[in-house]
Amino acid sequence: MVKVNDNFLKLPGGYLFPEIGRRTRAFAAQNPPMPLIRMGIGDVTLPLAPAVIDAMHKATEEMGHKETFRGYCEETCGAYDFLRFAIRDSYKATGVDIADDEIFVSDGAKSDCGNIGDIFSVDNVVAVCDPVYPVYVDTNAMAGRAGDYDGEKWTNLVYLPCTAENGFFPDLPARVPDIIYICSPNNPTGTAATAEQLKVWVDYANKHGSVILFDSAYEAFISEPGIPHSIYEIPGAKTCAIEFRSFSKTAGFTGNRCAYTVIPKALERGGANLNALWNRRQGTKFNGVAYVIQRAAEATFTPEGQAQIKESIAYYHNNANVIRHGLQAAGLTVYGGTNAPYIWCRTPDGMPSWDFFDLLLHKACVVTTPGAGFGPSGEGYIRLTAFGDADATREAVERITSILH
Ligand SMILES: *Cc1c(COP(=O)(O)O)cnc(C)c1O
Repeated sequence: MVKVNDNFLKLPGGYLFPEIGRRTRAFAAQNPPMPLIRMGIGDVTLPLAPAVIDAMHKATEEMGHKETFRGYCEETCGAYDFLRFAIRDSYKATGVDIADDEIFVSDGAKSDCGNIGDIFSVDNVVAVCDPVYPVYVDTNAMAGRAGDYDGEKWTNLVYLPCTAENGFFPDLPARVPDIIYICSPNNPTGTAATAEQLKVWVDYANKHGSVILFDSAYEAFISEPGIPHSIYEIPGAKTCAIEFRSFSKTAGFTGNRCAYTVIPKALERGGANLNALWNRRQGTKFNGVAYVIQRAAEATFTPEGQAQIKESIAYYHNNANVIRHGLQAAGLTVYGGTNAPYIWCRTPDGMPSWDFFDLLLHKACVVTTPGAGFGPSGEGYIRLTAFGDADATREAVERITSILH
């Protein structure tokens, strides 16, 4: 009789987004007085850049002719040189030296953040920020690294509270973790770490032999000078950090699927080279990203591609400004939105997140995300996304303002 991986049975069952969906559908079924505006899920809404579409058309045409058709990619782990070199050059342009064989192209930063656990022992102690992108927690729970869920927390995870008091960046914990997830700019809080803040963790990881898993999926949204776009801007990071990046939020690729992970060759742990281990893992379990999509990703690095994706990012930044200023004017305390497409908003009068979610849903017909769904320290906040339509965003802010007056 087959036995299942019973770590899966310990998972609390995708509470956050299904519950938002359930409450939203129940309300929508009662004929709300206004159309719903969805500011909950973190997905982009603008179409792909024209330079990307042109590259996809061209690559699709190539696939239709014997002379230019491509099958399995025989280059490193299914990533064509043209894309790895373009990624390497884009790092170089920002002063970060990464070799092309330190770059692994994949179908998503979500997959990589989860799959990276394959190269680490199940005995490692894992630290996550609280609130947190749920993928880090659930994938470690599936691997058996999280312990048991006690209704609020996993017993073996080290939770690093990120609150208004510490500027939403974690303090060093009492128990030393082996693996540390840091996401900057942050989902869900919308805040970004400074070089000084990151340096503390890089030094700590080097000192203790820990590894930092640095998720910079939102680096393209950094608008303030002096905020690192890459962990490798911090001296010492190449001997302790793996970086995850994605075209999803940068270039609207959420439906296209393309991302990359950097593992420096200088990163050794337990007598093993982590770049070599990941290369072995990817070579065995992954056959690469579609040729057409890799050409699409390459096009984001061309001058036209860069100009076009910057326009989309400016559009989302403008939404973030509208949300931030509007909610502040309504008397709410808000964070984020300057270096990320998310606004982290304190609920009024210490109202629980789910109550404020329900209030906004029922009175303003606006769907948000309750902060409590991202971890215990998210209680007392909601997250709003700036990825929506500009007119709908403006209207949502007006509606929220009018119900709070
Ligand atoms: C959206 C997002 C990603 C990107 O995931 P993809 O699989 O590349 O689409 C990664 N990390 C965080 C925190 C995100 O919010």
